[in-house]
Amino acid sequence: MHLKSLTLRGFKSFASATTLKFEPGITCVVGPNGSGKSNVVDALSWVMGEQGAKNLRGGKMDDVIFAGTSKRQALGRAEVALTIDNTDGAIPVDYTEVTISRTLFRTGGSEYAVNGAPARLLDIQELLNDSGLGKEMHVIVGQGRLDAILHADPIERRSFIEEAAGVLKHRRRKDKAVRKLTGLQTNLDRLSDLRTELN
Ligand code: ATP
Repeated sequence: MHLKSLTLRGFKSFASATTLKFEPGITCVVGPNGSGKSNVVDALSWVMGEQGAKNLRGGKMDDVIFAGTSKRQALGRAEVALTIDNTDGAIPVDYTEVTISRTLFRTGGSEYAVNGAPARLLDIQELLNDSGLGKEMHVIVGQGRLDAILHADPIERRSFIEEAAGVLKHRRRKDKAVRKLTGLQTNLDRLSDLRTELN
């Protein structure tokens, strides 16, 4: 699995449709200060379902919509589409290529889609969590976060590595199963009490 391309339209400083193509391996985005490098990383987080405006370096969510310049009017919507190569089936769908898109309208309302079909945020999160990508997977390390990781104690560092390695989804599933088992045990205890009372 690797990221194939990212298209931004009306997202932050990218007013016109702009597509970045990624090849397998390392990609570097270079440019002068303020040219939009971090906006590209914000777009990646955003399309994968980021809900916190602060994590996108804004005050409110519609700050991601192109706000206009002296030469160009503000836009009414921001759109980002991320295409992922899925030939190894890391994302559990029957497509060798998966395109996730997110649109936000200034009038309110937002839309997600997977390969053009409308989807819910939850669908996107579940798809990505299974692949090891996704919001809480530490696959995106912001400028300030690097220091936190370098200075983390061994226990915190282990949890970063476990999350990036995809252990987190199994821990979540285990916690869910344990919660269900606890609920089941409570019901069994209750049943046993009732049987004793009836006998
Ligand atoms: P540095 O190297 O200093 O970290 P950078 O290349 O990462 O810079 P970004 O932070 O990605 O730059 O981009 C900042 C630019 O994006 C600023 O010029 C800012 O005005 C512009 N920008 C951010 N949000 C919007 C928006 N909603 N509409 C228009 N422009 C925006």
